[in-house]
Amino acid sequence: MDDIKQRIEVLRNELREHNYNYYVLDNASISDFEFDIKLKELQTLEDQYPEFFDANSPTQRVGGEVTKNFETIVHDNRMYSLDNSYSKEDLEDWEKRIKKLVDGDIQYTCELKYDGASISLTYENGVLVKAVTRGDGFQGDNVTANVKTIKSVPLRLKGDFPEKFDIRGEIVLPYEGFNKMNEERIKNGEEPYRNPRNTASGSLKLQDSAEVAKRPLECLLYNLTGANLGINTQFEGLEKARQWGFKVPDAAKLANSIDEVLEFIEYWGLHRHNLPYETDGVVIKVNSLQQQEELGYTAKAPRWAMAYKFKAEQVSTRLNSITYQVGRTGAITPVANLEPVELAGTTVKRASLHNADQIEKLDIRVGDEVYVEKGGEIIPKILGVDLMKRLPNSQPTKYIEHCPECGTELVRQEGEAQHYCSNYNGCKPQIIGRIQHYICRKAMDIEGLGGETVALLVNAGLISNYSDLYELTKEQVIPLERMAEKSAENMVKGIEQSKNIPFERVLYALGIRYVGETVAKKLAKHYKSIDAIAAASQDDLVNVDEIGTKIAESVHAFFSSEENIKIIERLKQFGVQLEVSAEKLEGQTNVLEGKSIVVSGVFESISRNELKKLIEDNGGKVSSSISSKTSYIVAGDNMGPSKKDKAKALNIEIINEYEFLQKIDKN
Ligand code: AMP
Ligand code: ZN
Repeated sequence: MDDIKQRIEVLRNELREHNYNYYVLDNASISDFEFDIKLKELQTLEDQYPEFFDANSPTQRVGGEVTKNFETIVHDNRMYSLDNSYSKEDLEDWEKRIKKLVDGDIQYTCELKYDGASISLTYENGVLVKAVTRGDGFQGDNVTANVKTIKSVPLRLKGDFPEKFDIRGEIVLPYEGFNKMNEERIKNGEEPYRNPRNTASGSLKLQDSAEVAKRPLECLLYNLTGANLGINTQFEGLEKARQWGFKVPDAAKLANSIDEVLEFIEYWGLHRHNLPYETDGVVIKVNSLQQQEELGYTAKAPRWAMAYKFKAEQVSTRLNSITYQVGRTGAITPVANLEPVELAGTTVKRASLHNADQIEKLDIRVGDEVYVEKGGEIIPKILGVDLMKRLPNSQPTKYIEHCPECGTELVRQEGEAQHYCSNYNGCKPQIIGRIQHYICRKAMDIEGLGGETVALLVNAGLISNYSDLYELTKEQVIPLERMAEKSAENMVKGIEQSKNIPFERVLYALGIRYVGETVAKKLAKHYKSIDAIAAASQDDLVNVDEIGTKIAESVHAFFSSEENIKIIERLKQFGVQLEVSAEKLEGQTNVLEGKSIVVSGVFESISRNELKKLIEDNGGKVSSSISSKTSYIVAGDNMGPSKKDKAKALNIEIINEYEFLQKIDKN
């Protein structure tokens, strides 16, 4: 037994070191193949010997924990914003202000300002115990399970770290990974993500940490907070953090004057485009912690730090034409077609004009010289018009009144910015978009069928809604462009297999407006069958937890369409799952309704995941950390001492797995 424990420890340490070399130092020390072999060996041992479970083992990086509602956590130290500056003068003013407040020379640390989602990590005895988003600065969301999957976040520290401290940083999505994700999305017929920053912060709030694990996020650290850290300057803090195993970019530099700060800014203003991730400026911090303390904070930001924002790059070019795109929901987006121009390292040909109001507000006209800006967004935006260059015969833009694809008169609902084409069943891009949505990975996940093929199939008249997919034959699709027999076969097989996709995902796949994955799950859980949803009144729908009027209206409208009912009838005949399967229903109750339950430790008769599933199947909520809202804790072996103390302090009951099973009437 000791041998095994030792082997597990050896593997964990080795894997940890390889992870560190690869993800923190960007310097691989082992092949992927060898790494996988070791990881598998460790996984197998951990499965066989659950008594050696460790939440911080390298095997835990793959995620798996699902968080329904992120717990709110109050920051021990507030997470402030930064004041912004845009010019040399701004910085000089700042220096004047702070020189009045502190004695002696001031040295500055210059760092890059990473553009992502800020995060606060707490370490105790060298182990990551929690990761919390900035939220409103006073309190944020507990996203520990998700952050643990980010490989550059050390789960265990090296060297002489303080017993307890917080470290702040930014979670970013490097361009390369972002572009890969988007290629994948486009292939699946999904809208590409707009920019790495929003995608990074969105990733932190995903419910399934296994999904987060798939995203190539990185965590870049920049500030230590806490008492007794054994450091005297910000720069020393960065060095220490690096030694403890954190990823701290080495661009940071010390400057002895604002002139030296400006050199740093100038250098990175030019070179930042070569960095693997987005930056939107530089952060300048008073280096001495003693001076920082003397300077203190305003209501919003530290006086000892200043952000310098890079100017978003702009150029002007001619607007050649405006075209209109029709999305899957019928929403119309006006697009500016520009005279191609170089901007921030790429050639820009198109820019979004958003909607009719935007065009009117900026009075944008074809033939105008327009200013284009590229900030974080991949799609550039138009800032305005150079009126000096307006052509004498130019005409105000008249927004289209009819759908450019099918000619239907457009509608615009009260309070909505977008115009819509309401020809739901006859407008090609809507038909294609809906089927593309139906087959995408998160929906029916049809293997062997991609977004482009869907367009081909629709254009060839072979399908006109998603139920038609199930009647496609190999012989029909082979004549299509580029379709080999094998691919045709795979496609038909993939479509057939989608009949096993569970109801909640089918419901999402239908593409009902406002019914995303989460809403689909809610509806499926509540109504259990498509017929029940179709029969529900708007009032009834609104009564479901978290379903608002907008969603209720949309769901009701969807099922009021005879066409839709026909399509659903066909799906039913083909055997698509239109109700919650009996298997799934079995064992579902509401006995734990309203209960928030924490699971801790290792169990004898059941795995942690099974236990969590039981809680959810019986209407309870699994929460990842103890708070006053916790109903009780189900604890196995190895419950951590800090959790025990916390439970005691809050007077929360701890029960074992058998007592829990009794509560839900299972023995
Ligand atoms: P803002 O959101 O514009 O108020 O800028 C403040 C944010 O900049 C902080 O909350 C951090 O998330 C982020 N930030 C990025 N890089 C740094 C850095 N090197 N030092 C401090 N803050 C940074
Ligand atoms: Zn149309």
